[in-house]
Amino acid sequence: MTWLVQPRLVNDPFSDPGLLIDFRFGRRALLFDLGDVIPLSPRQLLRVSHAFVSHAHMDHFAGFDRLLRVCLHRTMPLHLVGPAGFADRVEHKLKAYTLNLLSEHGVDFVITAAEFNGEKFDRVCKFRAQEAFCRREVPPERLAPGVLLDEDEFRIKSVVLDHDTPCLAFAFEEKVRVNVWSEGLSLLRLGVGPWLNEAKRAMRRGAPDESAIVISHDLSIPLGLLKQHALRTAQGQKIAYVVDAAYHDRNVERIIALARGADQLFIEAAFLDEAADIAAQRQHLTARQAGDIAKRAGVARFIPFHFSARYRKQENRLRSEAEQAFRG
Ligand SMILES: [Zn+2]
Repeated sequence: MTWLVQPRLVNDPFSDPGLLIDFRFGRRALLFDLGDVIPLSPRQLLRVSHAFVSHAHMDHFAGFDRLLRVCLHRTMPLHLVGPAGFADRVEHKLKAYTLNLLSEHGVDFVITAAEFNGEKFDRVCKFRAQEAFCRREVPPERLAPGVLLDEDEFRIKSVVLDHDTPCLAFAFEEKVRVNVWSEGLSLLRLGVGPWLNEAKRAMRRGAPDESAIVISHDLSIPLGLLKQHALRTAQGQKIAYVVDAAYHDRNVERIIALARGADQLFIEAAFLDEAADIAAQRQHLTARQAGDIAKRAGVARFIPFHFSARYRKQENRLRSEAEQAFRG
């Protein structure tokens, strides 16, 4: 079985959060949150096409500057998504810099910032390097309710959580997983190669059986034949990411609906349950609450993170409390 993407936390669980969703094939990555992104290499940051920002508290957004610095002269646009008010915050960030040397003949690095309200985009702004990042309002793209991005192979869904300010949670969903059956390949006398990715992509897109899959310069084969012998579909990969949320019924229901059946759930576990009153005050989850939510969502793997710095020397207590609630 091959995974479409490899998710990994950018930092240790006490540092400012970020999850890199790295595509196994092709030079592309997504980011959930822009906390401390310093551990990512310029090469990794240059692959980021979209950064989804849960909310603009500093620990989730301060990494924007580093991303901008690395990407300033690239041609691939950068798409940013955040909650209400986010486009203004991106504009303020851009306005903080002296941009007199960006010229209308230079590389046109384009940033879009979209504001998501849980259903749809309320507002999208575009900032072009050739215009010194002056703000332009553009019409929002219309997608299915709750969807932030919809591509051939995957979609990103989101819900708005209450953290005393709107905070977005995200789910990456591969539309369909395609597994390769090696006996079938030998039967067809085919070896593995880059052509397999093409075949998988065609299958995920739902391409017709007669579509020709090019194996080499002098050999192509209909997709239908591959499906019959060597390619099998299964439920796609699902990764959910949840940070900063008050523990109350509406939030819990929304998190469970978003994360249901995920292969991996990355979820904040800021405090021990003995400090549940402080967690409630600061509108965060405790480790027990996070584990309980993960269990109710029926996820396969549960990765607690975004721990409060006060537990630096008690990381194991947080982990075991979370794990106990998940298994319990
Ligand atoms: Zn926050």
